[in-house]
Amino acid sequence: MSFSHLGLSEKVIAAVAAAGYKAPTPIQDQAIPHVLARRDVLGIAQTGTGKTAAFTLPMLTMLEKGRARARMPRTLILEPTRELAAQVEESFVRYGAKHKLNVALIIGGVSFDEQDAKLTRGVDVLIATPGRLLDHFERGRLLLTGVELLVIDEADRMLDMGFIPDIERICKLVPFTRQTLFFTATMPTEIRRITEQFLHNPVRVEVAKPATTLATTTQFLVKSGREPHEKRDVLRRLIRDAEGMKNAIIFCNRKRDVATLFRSLLRHGFSVQALHGDMDQSARTAALDQFRKGEVTLLVASDVAARGLDIPEMSHVYNFDVPIHPDDYVHRIGRTGRAGRSGAAITMVAGSNDAKAVAAIEKLIGQPIPWMDQVPGEPAAPREDERRASRPSHNPKARSSHRHQSHRSESHRRDSHRPDSHRPGTARAEDSRPRRAPQPPRERSDESETSHLPAFLLRPVPVKA
Ligand code: AMP
Repeated sequence: MSFSHLGLSEKVIAAVAAAGYKAPTPIQDQAIPHVLARRDVLGIAQTGTGKTAAFTLPMLTMLEKGRARARMPRTLILEPTRELAAQVEESFVRYGAKHKLNVALIIGGVSFDEQDAKLTRGVDVLIATPGRLLDHFERGRLLLTGVELLVIDEADRMLDMGFIPDIERICKLVPFTRQTLFFTATMPTEIRRITEQFLHNPVRVEVAKPATTLATTTQFLVKSGREPHEKRDVLRRLIRDAEGMKNAIIFCNRKRDVATLFRSLLRHGFSVQALHGDMDQSARTAALDQFRKGEVTLLVASDVAARGLDIPEMSHVYNFDVPIHPDDYVHRIGRTGRAGRSGAAITMVAGSNDAKAVAAIEKLIGQPIPWMDQVPGEPAAPREDERRASRPSHNPKARSSHRHQSHRSESHRRDSHRPDSHRPGTARAEDSRPRRAPQPPRERSDESETSHLPAFLLRPVPVKA
């Protein structure tokens, strides 16, 4: 199935071919004809499903007719974060290279004047975060009465960020007759209420979560003390010990913890950047760019800042905090193990609240997550009692496979952690204590097959002929 049957213009079909897309994704296949037929669409889909092109491609087709007037954007796309807004803008640049449309980005953290100048010239596509959009509106620099099409993207994330009152206000400022495309990954009650209030007889398009990465991602839980410094210590050991580390995201639940952890890792000599909502826009863009280009190895981030970002393949994901919403776990670890490649996702568990959150995650993903049998750099102890106490659904099969994957020979460890063996731009280790580590699955050497076994089991046993 190609893009030709969807009703897109020739220019757009050519742009899609130039992007190298062979066939529409399910959300594109199902949504695009309805968008072109001017229906309201309720799309239940996550990032990674191709949902951005599901609205940008038909919008480009529709915008080929007509012209923008000063201060009166023809279409409006609302995004919860600046990065997502910038990503949608990139998408218009990529698919709309031949369209000569005016696309403006109205996000916080950059100067009003520049944005204002763009609005004055007339805008075909206005991509905005809700707060900054309303700021421009209140200054009288923007009229929303010309909006023919409104896109509300990542609505459930808008809810998490407290943007729903702003969204309701904006929905009342655009003409009642506009077309609305509404995308959300989940449908909590508050979101359902908004869709009932602001969508007119919408077509509901629902696609499954993107192909699960669980199969190619090795997951582990690791026990940590509750104190922030104890957690940071465990994290450092994990990172120093990680094998096959190319790059990693470290997720924290709170943005202030992102900042603290970032500073701490920096002090310990790691190659690291941070991404959280309180950073100004240029710092966020620079951090993301450095990480994308591989100039830094680690990115400490909050869910909100990292949500939906199209970040290339990653070897490791660390959950410094267990995510509060189980869905976020799937999102976080979905950043590794892409395209069939292997990856590792390690979640630090500190205390009984975390254990409860882990139980909710295991229920959602339908499988137990094995515990790492030893925190790197700590003396080996089975700690079976603790495991049983905090996780009754423990899977011994998974644990034993981890031992195979994670254990390396002492000589290998010592070599790979000598300071002079560090590659530039990779996470640095400062000592070479014996450790065990989480790693992506890999080819095992004979040595690593047996190195976890007690020595008495490895003694030759005379066998009678
Ligand atoms: P999104 O869900 O919009 O964030 O898209 C995820 C990724 O899929 C982006 O990197 C897009 O460039 C890519 N993509 C979108 N549509 C297609 C398609 N039809 N075929 C292949 N890749 C696509």
